[in-house]
Amino acid sequence: MRRHLKLLACAMLATALAGARAQTPPELSLTRLDCGSSAPAGDVSRFSDTFAFNGLRMQIVFSCYLIRHGQEYMLWDTGHALTAPNVAPKVSLVEQLAQLQLKPEQVKFIGISHYHPDHIGQAGSFPQAQLLIGKGDWDNITSAKPVATNPAFVAHWIDGGGKVETVPLDKDVFGDGTVVMLATPGHTPGHHSLLVRLAQSGVVLLSGDLAHLRENYDSFGVPNFNTHRAETLASLDRFKKIAATLNATVILQHDARDVGKLPAFPASAK
Ligand SMILES: [Zn+2]
Repeated sequence: MRRHLKLLACAMLATALAGARAQTPPELSLTRLDCGSSAPAGDVSRFSDTFAFNGLRMQIVFSCYLIRHGQEYMLWDTGHALTAPNVAPKVSLVEQLAQLQLKPEQVKFIGISHYHPDHIGQAGSFPQAQLLIGKGDWDNITSAKPVATNPAFVAHWIDGGGKVETVPLDKDVFGDGTVVMLATPGHTPGHHSLLVRLAQSGVVLLSGDLAHLRENYDSFGVPNFNTHRAETLASLDRFKKIAATLNATVILQHDARDVGKLPAFPASAK
């Protein structure tokens, strides 16, 4: 009897282990991609609506990100178009993915932080991907008079050629909590940031343009071209609380000083 119980216990343990193996989380990685040529340090006055930066000159960088989730891939932002004057990327997203042995068709999702042209410029290179974009931003980009954007960059989706999911609040992209679009409106009506939970590196928060520069992030500074000041402050409050709670690495996507927080391309954080 006792021997039977032992065998039964062994069998149950084996089943449990097999179950645990089946639930092993998919491998995640995060790679920084260059998405525009950094101009030399320029006047950043427009990034403060309280005249805090008058006379200050700083370098702005342009970045996009590749998230691997098992065998599925997501791009976060698609950067400047190759036709952008002065700031066009030297190497396209498609060419950068090729260096990682990836084809454009392998990108399942394009997550967009917001509708400004430096974040949607190369979306058209991934026509098979599902577009994930804040509802407030989609409403502007598809309106009769879109403001501060170029709908041509996402015409494929506007015209019904590709799948779009408009995101009103947060969006758990893969359904397991590892990659979550966070509603952080204010820079634009549907602005989102991205939370990525990595196994070794911990939680990484990609800002979108919630803050462009560390000076604004630290001081609750608001650019003079944001669509909603109060929403920006509330979003900064939420984002900073999440960063503190989860002990996250915060990456301000336009801040040159944050580039080194991720391994240099083609390496990735895991
Ligand atoms: Zn931007």
